[in-house]
Amino acid sequence: MFHAQILTLFPEFFDSPLSCSIPKRAIEAGLARVDCIQMRDFATDRHRTVDDAPYGGGPGMVLKPEPVVAAIREARRRHADTRVVMLTPGGRRFTQDVALEYAASPGVTLLCGRYEGFDERICDYVDEQLSLGDYVLSGGEPAALCVLDAVIRLLPGVLGSPESAVLDSFTEEGILDWPHYTRPEVFEGKRVPQVLLSGNHAEIERWRREQARLRSEARRRLCEKAREETRKGAQKKDSGQGD
Ligand code: SAM
Repeated sequence: MFHAQILTLFPEFFDSPLSCSIPKRAIEAGLARVDCIQMRDFATDRHRTVDDAPYGGGPGMVLKPEPVVAAIREARRRHADTRVVMLTPGGRRFTQDVALEYAASPGVTLLCGRYEGFDERICDYVDEQLSLGDYVLSGGEPAALCVLDAVIRLLPGVLGSPESAVLDSFTEEGILDWPHYTRPEVFEGKRVPQVLLSGNHAEIERWRREQARLRSEARRRLCEKAREETRKGAQKKDSGQGD
């Protein structure tokens, strides 16, 4: 069984999302197990303090190393084969390949930050750092949830049809899923493509592959354009022409 552990200050965050749909079914079927570990339980003072002001000054609070490292040790004690993953904007980017890699492993421990983030020394106690993308969330919990959801649906036996996960976007690098249609045949004047009604499986397969290729290329162009615009904006800023 795949085991996931979440090191968090807000275990209640996970109650609702893990109790519906695919994650719920996977947990109930004994294919995955998810345990939250409350990091505050590892604080040793009367106030159960987990954060403190940053050395050197500046805004916000920083997660202290003692309770966080003690919680990591507890996670490793429970599952010696776990991979401890720190969720942080500076980590390696989470992709479908990473989800596949995790799904093939015995389990992961997802370390969720809050406030200004972790005391830097905590990095020495984790196996890797992972980012959901180039934006800042207020906590690691939403990131952990995305990782968990993406991984759980890849575990053998979780999806009704094992084909579903193989045909999803990004299973083949950079390739999106093809467009899907269901009844009615005409919706507000928009018709389902004729080929899908033809019953010709070879034609349908060809059409789907072509559509997947076209939309993947369109997305690639869009991403390249966005990257180029960001680069130009940064150059303008550097040369003092920006706002
Ligand atoms: N001061 C940090 C920075 O600018 O990099 C941001 C801290 S953020 C407000 C608090 C926590 O949210 C982080 O420690 C991390 O666990 C989580 N987090 C925020 N953005 C994330 C992202 N893109 N990917 C993964 N975790 C993220």
